[in-house]
Amino acid sequence: MTQYQRKRLSKGEYVDGILSGNRVVLSKAITLIESSATPDILLGEEILNTILPNTGGSKRIGITGVPGVGKSTFIETFGGLLTGSGHNLAVLTVDPSSQRTGGSILGDKTRMESLSNDLNAYIRPSPTGDSLGGVANKTRETLLLCEAAGFDIILIETVGVGQSETAVKGMVDFFLLLLLAGAGDELQGIKKGIMEMADAIVINKADGDNIQASKKAKIEFENALHLFPLSSSGWSPKVNLCSSVKNTGLEKVWSMILEYFNSVGEDWLKLQRQNQNVSWMKESISHLLKTGFYASPKVLKHLNSMEENVKVGQITPFSAARKLVDLG
Ligand code: GDP
Repeated sequence: MTQYQRKRLSKGEYVDGILSGNRVVLSKAITLIESSATPDILLGEEILNTILPNTGGSKRIGITGVPGVGKSTFIETFGGLLTGSGHNLAVLTVDPSSQRTGGSILGDKTRMESLSNDLNAYIRPSPTGDSLGGVANKTRETLLLCEAAGFDIILIETVGVGQSETAVKGMVDFFLLLLLAGAGDELQGIKKGIMEMADAIVINKADGDNIQASKKAKIEFENALHLFPLSSSGWSPKVNLCSSVKNTGLEKVWSMILEYFNSVGEDWLKLQRQNQNVSWMKESISHLLKTGFYASPKVLKHLNSMEENVKVGQITPFSAARKLVDLG
């Protein structure tokens, strides 16, 4: 028996611990669902299905922006504002790049120093994984565990790399894009698709010499957002200014987020979550099929020779794929 197996709790212990808000048990449960060992996956699944009725009670907020825009400083200050007004806050990260360093526990702790010492906040570093899909799945499950543990606001940060914004957009109620006022060409460096996903843009570092440029950028972003089609929620994305270092503008950001929740209404939010869950199921189907395919001994036996046949033009890639899939 490995050390890890000995440390595993019973299903009841996990469930009771999570539902009573015990953070040690919550952390253990998250570690369990992050494991790729089959017994852990099965137990994790049972725990998630049991706590499912106790989930759904949080405001799920995604935050994105390129490295250096001030995400962790923003979350530190904004998070303090939320916990200071009585909220229980969980901060999760989707960072597909953390697989390279094997996690970022120390990084996240030092990045958000006061929040990590805040009794009303819980910071969970990004899981490691071999694909964005895997990392995102673990984050979705972690979100459910945190909700069952009683957190009423969940911030999910993404590092603004690759497709991680789309993954986070697919698991939150509200998606916030942090930007900076640039040197007159603010719109140049930002992918249009990300702006289109945003429910709000917040221009950070609106302090000191940067205030005027930030005000100008606000107008430009507002104009740019007007060009996008209106969301089915009826909400038109807003642009705000803030300074995470000087702690200005953050209360306004929070009241804007609350305005969003009021404005779109519970029915629409429920529908959005239903659609997100169906997408999650479909993604999981693809993931499971792919994993099962590559684990099949028959496929493994023929994969290399089929690759060679494709290389020398003996068979079309499509036919080769179909033959292999038929084997699996
Ligand atoms: P991240 O990579 O997006 O998480 O960015 P960080 O939070 O690490 O911030 C990057 C740098 O910008 C740090 O040196 C911060 O101190 C600085 N910074 C963050 N927010 C502000 C702000 O509101 N105003 C100013 N002047 N600097 C900021």
